Formats: sequence, C-alpha cells, structure tokens
Amino acid sequence: MVHYLDHAASTPVHPAAIAALTETLTESYGNPSGSHRLAREANLRVDAARATLANVFGLTPGSIVFTSGGTEADSLAILGSLRRSRDAGQEGVAICSAIEHHAVLEPVEAAGGRHISVDGNGVLDLQHLRTVLTELAEAEKPVAVVSVMAANNETGVLQPVVEAAAIVRELAPTALIHTDAVQFPAWHDTADLAAAVDLMSVSGHKWGGPKGVGFLAIRDGVTLPPIQLGGGQERGRRGGTQNVAGIVALAAAAEAMGTERPTVVPLVRQLRDELVDRILEGVPDATLTGASADRLPNLAHFCLEGVESEPLLFLLEKEDVMASAASSCASGAQQASHVLAAMGISGATGAVRLSLGYRSTRDDVQAGAAAVIAACERIRSRG
Ligand code: PLP
Repeated sequence: MVHYLDHAASTPVHPAAIAALTETLTESYGNPSGSHRLAREANLRVDAARATLANVFGLTPGSIVFTSGGTEADSLAILGSLRRSRDAGQEGVAICSAIEHHAVLEPVEAAGGRHISVDGNGVLDLQHLRTVLTELAEAEKPVAVVSVMAANNETGVLQPVVEAAAIVRELAPTALIHTDAVQFPAWHDTADLAAAVDLMSVSGHKWGGPKGVGFLAIRDGVTLPPIQLGGGQERGRRGGTQNVAGIVALAAAAEAMGTERPTVVPLVRQLRDELVDRILEGVPDATLTGASADRLPNLAHFCLEGVESEPLLFLLEKEDVMASAASSCASGAQQASHVLAAMGISGATGAVRLSLGYRSTRDDVQAGAAAVIAACERIRSRG
C-alpha cells in the first residue's frame, strides 16, 4: 500500500472532477468560441465553471482567465505586468520575494528584477520591502509588479501578503500586486487574499483538479496585456481554445474542496502535528523548517544534518512512502534549494518535505515517520 505524502507536488483527482471530466469529454465537443448550438453549449459550461470558481475563491467571474496551470498564470502575471508598464512608457521593475517558485522567480530574474529577503523562518521581510520600494521611489524608478506568494511550496510557511500589499499601495501605487496562491486554497479561504491583490495565480492539481488547468484572477478594472496571442479567447487576455473538460473538472474539484475544507483542515493539522512529533522524537536533531512561523496545516519540512536527500528518498520509496526533498547541498542530483539558502540554511544539510492531503490517514503518518526514522539511522550508520 502506497503512503502518499507528496500532496504539495500534486493530489489525487477528486471523483467529482473525474466524473465531470469524463462527462464533458464525452458530451461536449464543440469549440466554445464557435457559434452553433454545440459550441454555445460548450461555452455555457465554461461560464458555469467560471461562476462556480468565482464563488469558491471569493472573486468575480469576469476576473478569471483560464490558463494551463500555475506556471502559465505566473508568467502571465509577471510578463503581462512588465508589458503593461512598457506600454505606459515606464520600463518598471519587477520585484518578488526571494523564495518564490521558479515560475515567478525566472521571469522576474530574466527582466533583471529585485528580490525581497526573508527571515530565518522563511517569512517575507516587510522592512526590506519598504526599503527597496523607498529606494526605487527616490531614484524615480517605477515598479511594474510586486509578487509575494501566499504559502511557500517547500516549507509551507505562510507569507504576509495582505501587509505587503498595503506597503506596495503606499510606496508604489502604480505597481500591480501579484500573489502565487497555488499552495494555499486547499487549506485556507482565499477571499481576503483576493481582495488585497491585483493578480492571483491558482492551479487545480494541488486540490483535486486535473493537471494542466488553473487560472489567473485579474482584479476588475485592471488591464493586463496578454502574453499568449491569437484567437482572442478569455476576453482577449489569453489566446487559445479553452480546455473545456479540464475547466469543468476544475470547478467540480473546487466545489468539493469548498465543502470539505472546514472539516478536513483540523483533522489534517492533527495528523501533521503527530507526524512532526514522531519524527522529532525518533530523529532528535532534525530541524523543523520555519518552526515558529505560521505554516500550512498539511506540510512538514525537515532539515537533516548528514542525511542526503537522494538516498533518503530512495529508502522512503522502498517502504512505499512517497515524499519530496530539496537539499541545500549543491552537490548530488538534488538541486540546491534557493528557499533554504534565502533562509540562511546552508552547508551539507539534507531535507525532506512530507505533505498530507484530504484523504491522508494515521496509517500514512505512522508509516511515513517510521520510514524517515529508519532511513536516517541507516544512512548515518554508513557514515
Ligand atoms: N507555484 C507554486 C507555489 C507551486 O507549488 C507550483 C507547483 O508546484 C507552481 C507554481 C506551478 O504550478 P503548475 O504545476 O500548475 O504549473
């Protein structure tokens, strides 16, 4: 039996989403941009899904631009903001936290943008944000976009997006504010987040939807130039025939998530806490990353001195425990983690990320903890 502890990477597809996907693929094959009855029917399905998602996420239907997932939503947010700034003759700077997912980090870095640092718990340094924005304002350098993720995908540490947004509104009022909320909705309501920002990226496969479908929410009244041209779909904001079945399945998964979340979160938090307690008892020198920060309730990330991630994951898999790692050690097959580096964690430290989902059980937690403890002992005993 597989103990799947990698829900931050992807989740099983919810049965309601599978049913919606299958039914739509079978019954609705019209192109939603067309004009005949079958086309209009497909378009109605897309719009019904838009309305459902708006309701679950605290958005207006018109703000939702469907994309091929989180990465495309992030690209559209950053590259679209840069183009918007250029179109206004401004050449504004892109700014993001140092711990963003590569989907944000890379377009920001490609544009020569700036990073905002985090503290040792992996929480955005709001004072540094203030300093950078003040410096840019004094140099009369406009800001195109500031991007701060809602929850970090490696550590689960929640970020002060609402506070950061208030600082940006004060010091760089023409900048757009983006949040990559990909890891967040499974565990928290997004309404407050959505109200604070201009752009919010969402991806379905982190909460029971299929892979390859998500959206960027663009606040009403904000004009964001497209980066994918042609076809004029999504009111000219993202060209390309919509993934109708994927979008309908996304909405079905969102509805299920919205219903289940209030009861599931406390149960998962309890299981996660048990997982942490067991591992800290069995591996007393393991360090829980971001321990004193607010974190997602499903995720535990540990730094393990002298235990490289690759053999650790190999041993976990032998016990049917599926997990992820990000190592701050630059050698070996695992890539160095820019997130841990930004937190000041460096050296030959291994790391493991265990992330629970809506259907995780105590059995998964016990098997996961036992496998981590045994693997650490084995790797260390080899010297
Ligand atoms: N942003 C974050 C925080 C993520 O965790 C991920 C996926 O791991 C992405 C963006 C990319 O989303 P997608 O896999 O839908 O492209």
